[in-house]
Amino acid sequence: MDVRELYQEVILDHSRRPRNFGSLGADARRAEGANPLCGDQLTVYLVVDGDVVRDVRFEGSGCAISTASASLMTEAVKGKPIADTLELFERFHDVVTSPAADDVSKAEIGKLAALAGVREFPMRVKCASLAWHTLRAALDDRGEPVTTE
Ligand code: ZN
Repeated sequence: MDVRELYQEVILDHSRRPRNFGSLGADARRAEGANPLCGDQLTVYLVVDGDVVRDVRFEGSGCAISTASASLMTEAVKGKPIADTLELFERFHDVVTSPAADDVSKAEIGKLAALAGVREFPMRVKCASLAWHTLRAALDDRGEPVTTE
């Protein structure tokens, strides 16, 4: 199995069986995100304990890429310090937007690298980034919806 097929498998798996799907209690932070170009909509719920993302969940509907990205993101950031979470977002953003992102950057983001292929499809970059922008809004507790437009 080559890397491309492996990545494809990861995306399919996470879009069909999203991890951490659902809501969190009334005291959780939340933010809503939308990608009107594709029709992706999601809500990210977040419980922060000190400097750590204690719990994170999401719900909504969207294409396979946006759902898989949200699912992979929740797995990646759960239990992580907020600083590391923001750092991971930067790395992830580099990998999905910059053709110059190398194998080192990909290795640093682990499974999230499965989404690296979207960089060839600018429309899809928004699908892949939506969950992350929404997560950041939830971290900031901004309370206004995020849109990719
Ligand atoms: Zn989409």
